[in-house]
Amino acid sequence: MQAERPASGPLFDAHAHLGDPALEGDRPQVLERAGRAGIRWILDNGTSLEDSGRALARRGSAGGVRVEAAVGIHPHEAARAPRDFAEQLRQLARQGAVAVGEIGLDYHYDFSPRPVQREVLRRQLELAQALQLPVVLHEREAAGDLLEILDRVGLPARGGVVHSFSGGPAEAEAYLQRGLHLGISGMVTFRGMDDLREAVRRAPAERLLFESDSPYLAPHPLRGRRNEPANVAWTVAAVAELRGESPEALLKASWSGLARLYGAEPPAGTR
Ligand SMILES: [Zn+2]
Repeated sequence: MQAERPASGPLFDAHAHLGDPALEGDRPQVLERAGRAGIRWILDNGTSLEDSGRALARRGSAGGVRVEAAVGIHPHEAARAPRDFAEQLRQLARQGAVAVGEIGLDYHYDFSPRPVQREVLRRQLELAQALQLPVVLHEREAAGDLLEILDRVGLPARGGVVHSFSGGPAEAEAYLQRGLHLGISGMVTFRGMDDLREAVRRAPAERLLFESDSPYLAPHPLRGRRNEPANVAWTVAAVAELRGESPEALLKASWSGLARLYGAEPPAGTR
């Protein structure tokens, strides 16, 4: 599946890691290119306490691009979380984070023991509820356990997103029923992802959030290169074509979901 050209703005990137070493060296240029591509809002995600603190420090506006931060401990980092991580994260979140993330379960890599992943997720879900913040969820080969924990612990009233969603229609439906959004990355353009494309075709547009997951998952035709927020324009174009909609209509609906979730202001004309 291939779009002829990238979508034009106003766009957003609902999930990036601007602190990743791959983007560290030329971050100002990365943000400048994002602005030129029409990106107006980026959510920069923390993966550990330290990384979350740095994401908070990077917040700001430049070249028409607003960067906000989510603070959280990624399942890969769960085993390294200090005993008082929840208290430390609470203090970070109070400094102006718009979400708790990214948090979740990753049974593909299993970098942290699964019981530790589940416990760290549970406590961060409770924190998001207490702080009334939405959650950014990471799930890989762990949908059953994630759903079980969400149902037992509960989602924050503000909801959340399953970022870089890679499942099919049945999994999408399970998340949508719980009020979650689906984060759509460049994977939707990859060969062999027909089930994901079918899920994306069926989902309500206002529940789709477009994301780069920079520096990973660059969309076709840039696949394999370092990814950056500007490339979301290709993912949006591909999804619009897949759904038989105009990029403008798709983006308008998607901005409304982003505004509900994070209070992100869509630029005038997309409300
Ligand atoms: Zn991520």
